[in-house]
Amino acid sequence: MPYEEIIQQLEFLRDIGVDRLDLGRASIAVIEEAPALAEPSDSSETLSSIRADLGDCQRCKLAPTRTNIVFGSGNPNADLVFVGEAPGFDEDQQGLPFVGAAGQLLTKIIESTGVLREDTYICNILKCRPPDNRNPEPDEVLQCSPFLKRQLASIKPKIVCCLGKFAAQNLLQSSDSITRLRGRFHDIDGMRVIATFHPAYLLRSPEKKREVWEDMKQIRAELFRLKF
Ligand code: URA
Repeated sequence: MPYEEIIQQLEFLRDIGVDRLDLGRASIAVIEEAPALAEPSDSSETLSSIRADLGDCQRCKLAPTRTNIVFGSGNPNADLVFVGEAPGFDEDQQGLPFVGAAGQLLTKIIESTGVLREDTYICNILKCRPPDNRNPEPDEVLQCSPFLKRQLASIKPKIVCCLGKFAAQNLLQSSDSITRLRGRFHDIDGMRVIATFHPAYLLRSPEKKREVWEDMKQIRAELFRLKF
């Protein structure tokens, strides 16, 4: 990874409140070997070839504790992609994203845009479950996020919807709160990117559903606008 990229990533991590970094030999090696985030992604890659390249990934410390890699699922030509944080227990067991309680709510949220879940593509910033659902750590994000970038370059969606603060801050490279980031489109690499509250958060705070429906209405309108 080029020096400037490492600095940029470290500054971003500082801005979002990471105040500690494991500088042991193993962690340094992980950071040094991380694929360049700035490398232009090859839009002719297929999801299958990216999955094959990921292989039985051992690039970070989540590998020994995961059951399955959760690469992503859905339509490889989707106009609309949803990006969450990381697999939870059910996703780790099944190798599929958003299959637990939050996933059932996500299906309803998606369908309010007028698109079927199977016509979208769903994935996460991290492809392996952090133990006890702890927050993703910087070296894990450094290793995993280039694969997400390649998936997006391959799918070429019109719209990407970030689910929750973690996905939003990472995809938008911003330290702003989810409350500030949600509710409007941001333009990143030719995609319209919008953020909304995470469905797991909605299960705990159902009063926030109204804002999510507003965000989905924007997606519905934008999909319609981009098609015609
Ligand atoms: N939460 C996420 O962020 N992703 C999943 O796949 C499941 C729960």
